[in-house]
Amino acid sequence: MSPTEVIGHADHGGRSIRDEGADGSASFGHVALPGVVDTQKGDILYLEDISVSFDGFKALNDLSLNIALGELRCIIGPNGAGKTTMMDVITGKTRPDSGSAFFGQTIDLLRMTEPEIAHAGIGRKFQKPTVFEKHSVFENLELAMKARKDPFWTLRAKLTSAQRDAIGSVGERIGLANEMEREAGLLSHGQKQWLEIGMLLIQEPAVLLLDEPVAGMTDAETDRTADLFLELAGEHTLIVVEHDMDFVNKIARTVTVLHEGSVLAEGPMQDVQNDPRVIEVYLGR
Ligand code: ADP
Ligand code: MG
Repeated sequence: MSPTEVIGHADHGGRSIRDEGADGSASFGHVALPGVVDTQKGDILYLEDISVSFDGFKALNDLSLNIALGELRCIIGPNGAGKTTMMDVITGKTRPDSGSAFFGQTIDLLRMTEPEIAHAGIGRKFQKPTVFEKHSVFENLELAMKARKDPFWTLRAKLTSAQRDAIGSVGERIGLANEMEREAGLLSHGQKQWLEIGMLLIQEPAVLLLDEPVAGMTDAETDRTADLFLELAGEHTLIVVEHDMDFVNKIARTVTVLHEGSVLAEGPMQDVQNDPRVIEVYLGR
């Protein structure tokens, strides 16, 4: 079974993600996409006029942004531009003062709790890896798989062979196929980051949010992460915040530059890099 088939046949709370929504919106073949997300217009995420204030300071200021299904979008911008706050809004951690945020055409993220949003298919990787150090790579993936399905999960409950296959496929994908029995605490920093990405992948998110994923990685690890993201794009939608411009250069399709809580520039990397306003506030420094 190929990894994509595993993802395509996986179970979303008792419902196959291949199930057609009432409008047939899930007919995207190998794209990991819950049947209820309506992406018929091509976009999977819609932020409109989002504002967030902290004690009168506007961290986000009428931010509007659409992300297409299967896209790999890079978000760059100076410290304090609002990149992490944007992810906090999408994942339900922060409620905006105004604006709207939709997952597909119909799912109103601003009416959902953080766990509901995660369960609906928006996964997030924070900067610091949070793997279970005393457990093996395999067990970490297993725990992540079970945590999604069953709040009373235990490592002792027997895996089905399809679940074993799914864990194996993710292990291969994140470059840890030969480390499956290794204690996660013994992995390199980069490998831990990949494991945490694997723990997200095993839950088949439609959208993956990654905040500074290559911070602290070696050059070789950074290159492998770029390859991984390029592989995942299409099948998943990726939103990547990163300061490492060599990395962004390697993976970027459309780049969005945030500055003072709103979009300063957006377009192909080449155009954005040559935009005098972007050079002024970010790249030139
Ligand atoms: P970025 O990720 O682009 O560096 P952030 O979204 O973390 O920017 O922060 C945007 C601005 O909002 C910063 O000035 C930051 O200090 C402020 N900010 C973020 N979170 C909070 C918070 N919980 N309370 C107060 N200010 C915050
Ligand atoms: Mg940040």
